[in-house]
Amino acid sequence: MRHFPIFIDLTGQPVVLSGAGEVAVPKIRLLMKTGARITVFGEKPHEQIRAWADESELTLVERRVSEADVAGARLLYGANGSRAADKAVARIGKAAGVLTNIVDNLGDSEFITPAIVDRDPVTIAIGTEGTAPMLARKIKADLEEMLPAGLGALAKIANRFRPIANILPTGEQRRTFWHRFFFGDGVRAHGQSGAAGIKTRLSSLLAEILADEQPSQPVAFVGAGPGDPDLLTVKARRLLSQADVILHDRLVPQPILELARREATIISVGKKGYGPAWKQADINRLLVEHGRESGLVVRLKSGDPTVFGRLDEELEALEAAGIAFEVVPGITAATAAAAGIGASLTRRGRNSDLRVLTGRATEGFAEHEWRELASQGATAAIYMGVHAARFIQGRLLMHGADRRTPVTVVENASRSDERIIATTLGDLPVAIDAAAIDGPAVLLLGLEPRQAARAMEEIDIEGIAQVEVS
Ligand code: SAH
Repeated sequence: MRHFPIFIDLTGQPVVLSGAGEVAVPKIRLLMKTGARITVFGEKPHEQIRAWADESELTLVERRVSEADVAGARLLYGANGSRAADKAVARIGKAAGVLTNIVDNLGDSEFITPAIVDRDPVTIAIGTEGTAPMLARKIKADLEEMLPAGLGALAKIANRFRPIANILPTGEQRRTFWHRFFFGDGVRAHGQSGAAGIKTRLSSLLAEILADEQPSQPVAFVGAGPGDPDLLTVKARRLLSQADVILHDRLVPQPILELARREATIISVGKKGYGPAWKQADINRLLVEHGRESGLVVRLKSGDPTVFGRLDEELEALEAAGIAFEVVPGITAATAAAAGIGASLTRRGRNSDLRVLTGRATEGFAEHEWRELASQGATAAIYMGVHAARFIQGRLLMHGADRRTPVTVVENASRSDERIIATTLGDLPVAIDAAAIDGPAVLLLGLEPRQAARAMEEIDIEGIAQVEVS
């Protein structure tokens, strides 16, 4: 270890930066997070630096730095972006005995600035001795994802709450309390209701642990997105990696379930559209059973939990049993499908409203609903519509829809086996049969893929343009 990591208290301390151009801006931004008294020397300052000077965030001196200027400084930065000017800064620093860093020049630097993950007061410094900035960036990105944004707030509140928590005996109980605070209840409370929520949760958690009760955790209804694990929210990933029990839909693919802990109990409560199914009442019962036990229960639903997921029924079952819950949104199939074809779901002058419906609901449609859907420019994302395609086509044509209305079927949206079938209302049932769709698919009525996507690979099956994107 050539560079020894330390954290220096810069509150009220003089820090000097030589260079007022673009190179200096990110360094200054970083230093401004501390309480340092920053002085920047340089001619022709960057407008951002001038703005900071105007706001009294720093002192700007529009000339080159000299040895006398750095006397007594805690740190000196050379950020001129010019080798010659920075060499001079290194010399000045050495002569004045001030710790000096030259930006992007390890050889002339006496200290280096690490990559930083900032959850003030929790600060993580990552150093690679300047050998692999790319690696430091990757580690930083991983940590940023892993650590909740509210961690800093948690740490600050924990600090104030510490004397109160000390009424817990040292050992197991106290450890359990803090563990649950930092890695479970506290994080969730912050996500739901900010600092106020944390304080309330801290008190109730303390009471539960004092009473030696198993602390209850809200059941998390989590959107798993359309299938690509990269389209999970950061929050969904975190909950998955913490869950003790996961109840998931059939549509949630294996790569997402892989993100669960190895010890987690994973139960598939799949309901296949027209095939054998778990009964909703059984799912509700299972949720309540697990929700009553300690540990984190995640109800993982494909796409967004609030879209055709029978969310309300499951929430009502929990409510009736007095079990708390939270809902974490996800990317729904319609938006993933629209992304896949590079088309906008709404468009000025074409459609200002978007219908989101299920193929099954259309069976009960009233006359006026068909008329609206059949009208020029109507745009709809139809879930579970593959089996109902012929019926939908028939009704729409009957209500005056144009046979040439574009319809795009997106199967397995966002997944590696995504398929885009671009057709028209007139050809829809034939196109669907020819494509032999067996994955989940959304029908985008009124939308066609952007020309570029269509041109990628056009296969003509009996006059049907079918584009396969893999
Ligand atoms: N809550 C889910 C929808 C569940 S209903 C969401 O928000 O996406 C199940 C239907 O969603 C499927 O029949 C299909 O129409 C659609 N669907 C789910 N995942 C899909 C995917 N990856 N590609 C295309 N359609 C999908």
